[in-house]
Order: sequence, then structure tokens, then C-alpha cells
Amino acid sequence: MSSADIKSYKSTCSYCGVGCGVIVSKDKKGKISLKGDPDHPVNKGMLCSKGMNLHYVVEDKSDRLLHPQMRWGKTHPLERVDWDTALDRASAVFSSIIEKHGPDSVAFYVSGQCLTEEYYLVNKLTKGFLKTNNVDTNSRLCMSSAVMGYIKTLGEDSVPISYDDIELADCFFVAGANPAWCHPILWRRIEKHKEENPHVKIIVVDPRATQSCSIADLHLQLHPGTDEVLFLAMGRCLIEQGDIDLPFIKKHTDGFEAYKELVMKTTLQEAAEICGLSEEDIKTAASFIGNAKGFLSLWTMGLNQSADGVNKNLALIDLNLITGHIGKPGSGPFSLTGQPNAMGGREVGGMATLLACHRNLNNPEHRSEVADFWGVDEISATPGKTATQIFEGIEEGSIKAIWVICTNPLVSMPDARKVEAALKKARFVVVQDISNKNETIPYADLVLPAAGWGEKEGTMTNSERRISYLDQFKPAPGEALSDAEILMRFAKKMQFSGFNFNNMAEVYSEYCQLTKNTNIDISGLDYDYLKNHGSVQWPFLNKDQGGTKRLFTDHKFYTANGKAQIMASGLKSDYEKTSADFPLVLTTGRIRDQWHTMTRTGKVNKLNTHIPTPFLEIHPEDALERGIIQGKTVLVSGIRGEVRLHAQVTDKIKKGTVFMPMHWGKILGNDFARANNLTGNTIDPVSKQPDFKYSVVQVALY
Ligand code: SF4
Repeated sequence: MSSADIKSYKSTCSYCGVGCGVIVSKDKKGKISLKGDPDHPVNKGMLCSKGMNLHYVVEDKSDRLLHPQMRWGKTHPLERVDWDTALDRASAVFSSIIEKHGPDSVAFYVSGQCLTEEYYLVNKLTKGFLKTNNVDTNSRLCMSSAVMGYIKTLGEDSVPISYDDIELADCFFVAGANPAWCHPILWRRIEKHKEENPHVKIIVVDPRATQSCSIADLHLQLHPGTDEVLFLAMGRCLIEQGDIDLPFIKKHTDGFEAYKELVMKTTLQEAAEICGLSEEDIKTAASFIGNAKGFLSLWTMGLNQSADGVNKNLALIDLNLITGHIGKPGSGPFSLTGQPNAMGGREVGGMATLLACHRNLNNPEHRSEVADFWGVDEISATPGKTATQIFEGIEEGSIKAIWVICTNPLVSMPDARKVEAALKKARFVVVQDISNKNETIPYADLVLPAAGWGEKEGTMTNSERRISYLDQFKPAPGEALSDAEILMRFAKKMQFSGFNFNNMAEVYSEYCQLTKNTNIDISGLDYDYLKNHGSVQWPFLNKDQGGTKRLFTDHKFYTANGKAQIMASGLKSDYEKTSADFPLVLTTGRIRDQWHTMTRTGKVNKLNTHIPTPFLEIHPEDALERGIIQGKTVLVSGIRGEVRLHAQVTDKIKKGTVFMPMHWGKILGNDFARANNLTGNTIDPVSKQPDFKYSVVQVALY
């Protein structure tokens, strides 16, 4: 086949928040192949195992939802209907529930995998027209503690760095993250940088010796949940060693004296004991930072998914602030986004507690600005229910109808059996997805088939504020429609004005205008620019100057007085207590070749061969006490449920801690390997992000 017969499209990988550029080629017969985009600034042609196999997922239609399906009553089976019937029913049920019980009796639960345009429309629909702020997202399970950490310290949810800072840094502090497996292409860049510059220091903080530790100069294998104590102890060491930037602190920050007082309250010896570390190691970590010219702190779920998630974020960002390592090359706090468009979702206000373009839902002026822009009377001042609160609301009966888009809460939500019980009680459940493997479908009254990656166009924003355009390169199968189209058709059925867009470029253009004069201003941006010039980092100054590589280079922060706020609490939230019945701490996480609840990566044989079955990592001494040997099936019991899986006996995990991956839901209809049978409902009091990293359990031979 000649090259003239092959058409190329540019897109972005739809898995993690690294945001690698891909080039998709389609031949005359429609066969798709894919490679990393060599000109893309993020990955420079590289792709990880998940990205390399994306096209298999696109081509396999075996599990695709192809037609709307509906049941007429809870005891009736789902049956095929046309789109009009499906959306007429949805609008009739939503209208009648809202009329009887008020707007807050309905909720939308969406996803960090939605495109920005979809996120924008669902927020406009709920907050502007349905008059409820009950629209939350699985990003609540992912980044909300980081969002609050940024807002409290820097004034807004703004990641200050650029990936190009990687090659300019000489100290990487990686806490609660395993980027070697979960953000592989960024890690390749860090590995290469270290290989070429052996003096570069890497510190990894994790109760497990993960793949990321293989190139670390120092692994701080702390007790789960003690990260904040460690960061404050390191702050103390930096102050005592004189490795802080006093001129920066005095001129550009508030709160240092209170911080200093707090960190001095705990001696290094006490902190080391709490964390299960040596004093020497804590001092060494602080000295690596103290000697660095460029210091990047990287973190993700290990800190965010915690009862203390915000406090851990604050204490980590403080290390950048007291050393003045922010707003300059090679330096800054660098939260690693889990999902491909979690940041794009936050930009459009895609959470129950946010408003578009970093506006504040609690601020009446901000609510008026957005209401005026959308041409509606007002936006409700009542904060919406967050992810766990939505399912609690269904359980207690205050929320009657839920619309789930592009997410699989029956596997991904904590205490999954409680979510199951809640969904059984819901009056009306809509599930909008691409896959019939979504475990939430059996609870649905209405199933809507959605278009997947490559079957629609739109934009996403990665972890470094980089906005990319994703081209459509194939039609959606069957009668599946893009999420945006489904939402617009529903809005029209509800007779809402403001959804008469002819295409996604118009949706994006409306959103861009809403950003005008905010700190994330992209009002000069449009699809044409993105298609012709490639991706850009917000804020977008103008078509001549392009985007913004690094924030806060002038050390003016987005707080009221322009100063960054050094703050730390030192207060410990309520973790579950270990006991004779439940003496071990379970922490959950991800493996290299699977993504979330495996509805896509689980379809690819090559990816399934890496780690084909779920497992429990247990320390040899904990295993010996229980007569557990490698490979044997064990029963893990917790307060809320149990799982059965095989034991992996390894000294890579801290004694007293066990680990299992979160990906597996039901296998052959049985939930015996679902990690979220064991996790609880403890949430961070500020970010409302659930704790997936600390549940007490017992383990026994099965
Ligand atoms: Fe996709 Fe993330 Fe892998 Fe890049 S690193 S190819 S964005 S999964």
C-alpha cells in the first residue's frame, strides 16, 4: 500500500495524565496502527506499553455497547430502544423527580477521562440548567487533595512546573507515587537525565520498594500514613542546616514563623520513630534537597488518597516554598495527574465544589459571572455532593436519580459493596459508557452507548497544563454517540436553551471565552491554533506568544496578597486503628500494564501477560507468622468485606503492611478480588477525597 493510501491523525494517549502525543495511521481498508509522535514535546516519540497497545482497544468491538437499552421497571430486563425513546424517558424521569423532590435529588457522576468539551457541557447542564451542583467526578478519587493543596498555598489549582523542568532539576523527591509504572514516559525522562547526570539525586518515599526505587539514591520506606510527619521533619532539618531561602521566604511568603514553631515541636528522633525510618536517612533526604540547584517534588495517589491528603500536600509543597524552589527552572511542586483529563475537568469547574475557570462556588460574584455568561438566573449556592456523598445520598434516599458517565464506580469507589447497595435503592440509574463490561450496568435503568477515544474530537489537559487537540479518526460503532452529543440531545429534550452547538469547535470556543481575564485565560485559543501549532500550556497569552511554560516566575502568587502561604497542620486525621483482629494495614495501587478497572487494557492479551492475576504482597515475617507461603491463596478480611487472592511473599513491602492492586472487579461474576471490598469511607475533611491507602485487615491462609 502506498503512503498516499494511508491517512495520519494526531491525538493524545487516553490513559494517564502524562499526555503523550500519538500519531494514528489508517489505511484504505480502515486498519489502524499507531506510534509515538516524535515531534511531541512530552514524549518525543516514546510510548509505554499501555499507549503502544491503544489501537487494539479501538479496533476490538467485542464488548462495545452499540444501542441504547432501557428497562421499563426494576424487574424488567433491559431492551433495545432508539435514541429518542431513551432520551425522552431520561428527560421525563429527571423532570418529574426534580419537580417532586427539588434539583438536588439528581446527580451526575462523571470522569477524568471525559474530554474538556464534555466536562464543560455536563457542568453547564447541571449547575446552569438543572440547578444543582451535584456533579462530581472520579477525579475526586484522584486529585482533589492536590487541588486543595495548591489552592491553599498558591491561591489556585495551578501546577507551576513544565515537564522541561525535569532535565533542569538535580533533585527529585518522589512521594506516594510509582511513576516507573504509572507515569512511565515521564519516568523514562527522569531515568535518562540521571543516567547522563549521575550527580542527580532521587529520593523515593513509599512503604513498598517499587520499580521507581531501582534508580533511587535513597528509599524512605516509611509506615503508611506518616508522610506528613516525615515532610515536617525534613523541614526542621532544612531549617537547622540553614538550607532555606530566607530572602524568598520574607518577600514572597506568609506563615513561616508558625511553620517553624510547628516543625520544632517534634524532635527528629520522635519523627523517625513515628515514620519507622532512621534519623540519618531523614537528614540525608533533607541534605539532598538543601544542596540542589533545582528541586522537583513529585507525588500522586499515595498522598492524595488519604484521610490526611490535604495536610500531606501542604507539608510537601512547604518544602518547595521554604527552599525557594518554585517559579524557577528545574524547581517546583509537580503533582502527577492520574487520569488523562483530570486537569481539563478541573478547568471547566468539573467538580461539585468548583466553578468554571478556577472560580469559587462560594463566591456570589463568581456565581453571577458564570450565570450571566450562560444566560441563566443564578447558580445554586449549595455545594454539590462529592463522589462518596452522592452514593450516600442515594443510600439515604435524598438522591433519587444518578447519571454515570465514563466511569465504573462498582470497582473504583471505596467500600464498593456499599455503593452496590446504594445503586439498588436508586429510583433511576443512567449508565453512559463504551463497554458492556462496566460493572455498574446491571443496576442501570437506561444504558447509553458512547463513542470512545478516536471516535470523537475534543481537547484534554495533561499534568503540566498542556492542552492537546484529539482528532477523530473513525466513526463510533453501532448507534454510539459522543458524550457531548448525548448531553446536548438530553438538554434539548429538557428544552434548555444554550446547547445549540453545531460542532465541538463551537463548544470549545464558548468555554475559551469564559476563561477571559482569569489566571487560566485561553480566550485567544481555538481548534485551528491547536491543529496547526500543536499543544499549548495554559494560560495562553496570544497567538504570537503562545502558552506559558512555567508559572510564578515573578514570585507573585494567586493569593489575595500575592504571597504563597506556608501552612501545615501537624494534626493527624482519624485513620482506622489496627487491633488484634485486624493487625495489618492494607494499601492499594496500580500495576504497570493495567488501567483503572481494566475495561480497556484488560482486553489486550499482551498487557494481560505482565501480571495476569490479582495478588497480595506480604512481608516474609508476616507471612511466616501465618503459615503463608508464596503463591498460596489467602483470605484478606477487613471491617467491610473480604477478598481471596494469591500471596506474593516479598521483603519489598514494609512489615505490617500488605498491598493489592485496585484493578480487578468481578471475575466471572464473583467479586473475590475486588480491593474495594476492603477499603472504607474515611475521607479527607477538606478535599473529600477517600482514603484508599490505609484500611486495617487480617490475612490468613485460605
Ligand atoms: Fe499513555 Fe501515560 Fe503511557 Fe504516555 S505514559 S503512553 S500517556 S499511559
